[in-house]
Amino acid sequence: MTPMNDELHEALETIRPELLAMTRLFGLPDAYWEEPSRYLLRAETLPDSYRISFSFGDLLSERAAPFSTETDPRARQLHRRRTARRLCKQTLYDLCRKMTGIHPPWGSLTGVRPTHLMLEALAEGLSPQAAVDRLVREYDVTLPKAELLAEIAAVQGALPPPGDGFMDVYIGIPFCTTRCAYCSFSSGEIGDGRLVPPYMDALEKEIRACAPLIAATGRKLRALYVGGGTPTALPEDDFRRLLDLIGEYFPGARETTVEAGRPDTLSREKLRAIRLSGISRISINPQTMNDRTLRIIGRAHTAGQVREAYALAREEGLPHINMDIIAGLPGEDEADFAHTLEEAVLLHPESLTVHTLALKRSSRMSLENAPLPDGDMTARMVDRGLRTARSLGMVPYYLYRQKYMAGNLENTGYALPGHACLYNVDMMEETSHILALGAGGISKRIWPDEGHITRAPNVANIQEYISRVDEMAARKRDLFEAEM
Ligand code: SF4
Repeated sequence: MTPMNDELHEALETIRPELLAMTRLFGLPDAYWEEPSRYLLRAETLPDSYRISFSFGDLLSERAAPFSTETDPRARQLHRRRTARRLCKQTLYDLCRKMTGIHPPWGSLTGVRPTHLMLEALAEGLSPQAAVDRLVREYDVTLPKAELLAEIAAVQGALPPPGDGFMDVYIGIPFCTTRCAYCSFSSGEIGDGRLVPPYMDALEKEIRACAPLIAATGRKLRALYVGGGTPTALPEDDFRRLLDLIGEYFPGARETTVEAGRPDTLSREKLRAIRLSGISRISINPQTMNDRTLRIIGRAHTAGQVREAYALAREEGLPHINMDIIAGLPGEDEADFAHTLEEAVLLHPESLTVHTLALKRSSRMSLENAPLPDGDMTARMVDRGLRTARSLGMVPYYLYRQKYMAGNLENTGYALPGHACLYNVDMMEETSHILALGAGGISKRIWPDEGHITRAPNVANIQEYISRVDEMAARKRDLFEAEM
């Protein structure tokens, strides 16, 4: 790397993981990064701009971008840093396109939240069409994906606005009946249930200590989300205790969700208790309606149990059921995914989240006997998911991406009008304070004026959480009571 001033050097010092993510978009081997002679980066500071070039053998790409001349040193540094990093990624992207001829659906974007760029452009005063054009022009995002973001931004714009005066609450129940082969959460199998009572005691302690922070910091509860894990995997008594705690400490939320992911964890009693507690939304997630795939991915239930759970939930009068499904599951082809969607239509959920399989290498190995659909096929599945959601009268309302996604695609939440989940939007757009309780929860405080977020994570290990719960509560007091 030559020649660059300290500011440019500092901006690029920690960019390697992002560059690695960029080459992965094109399926280029990570091993290329181990050979210094492969990708050659040249970065220069000119009088009013940065210039960056990347080469690989005979192939070369080069870009330059003017840097900020802001007078405020902090803002200038921030803008210059962002410019340098974007430029560096963009230049490597150009090179990878030349090397492979591939056009990734999200262009050069590697981040989790592509909606941020759309919202940023709209906040600058651009029209939706101009914002779409910018994403296509500057980041090489494909037109359908850019237009999807514009539609999502419009749907989000019509929701009750979040802001500094509100707080969302997340409660994590880190237990599941069995572990899905693709799971990236820190949840444990519930096993013999030994850890459940001490976990619930610790959670109650943390709730008692932290719930008052909402009013004490002058805020109102907006959305409450109970996730995990599978909260309904708790035994009946513990599940009721959880609902009682929510009723006592978090009344008056605009929206409350309880994930009831595995249909085999649901009983009429639990569903009735959910309805009587005023929970407004549950999520029953088949992931696929093909029994063979359910066995391959380690979910110990059948498609028939999903149908029964939906019927039971409807009988008990649950007002909003969300369904999660996954495109790109091992051993599935388009016909399998189409079958899942046909079944989804029959179960008519109020919202549908179409995920794309994201597999870490370790999980991939455990599934090596079931071939994964390729990126193009997964993209067709995702498109089919979008068409099905539209045929049900749903609109897309939130979107995010993860590492290691099949075909470098995305996860999109669709909902009938009036059924968008506020918590999902707040979480993904990072527009609301989050008070997160339970093992692995990450509390967030937003600083709207500074455009900054501070976080307080809880430990993810269940036993550690139990033994260190006082410390977890203190972290949140420090987070929300701190002055900037
Ligand atoms: S249900 Fe969710 S949290 Fe539980 S094992 Fe499966 S992916 Fe992980």
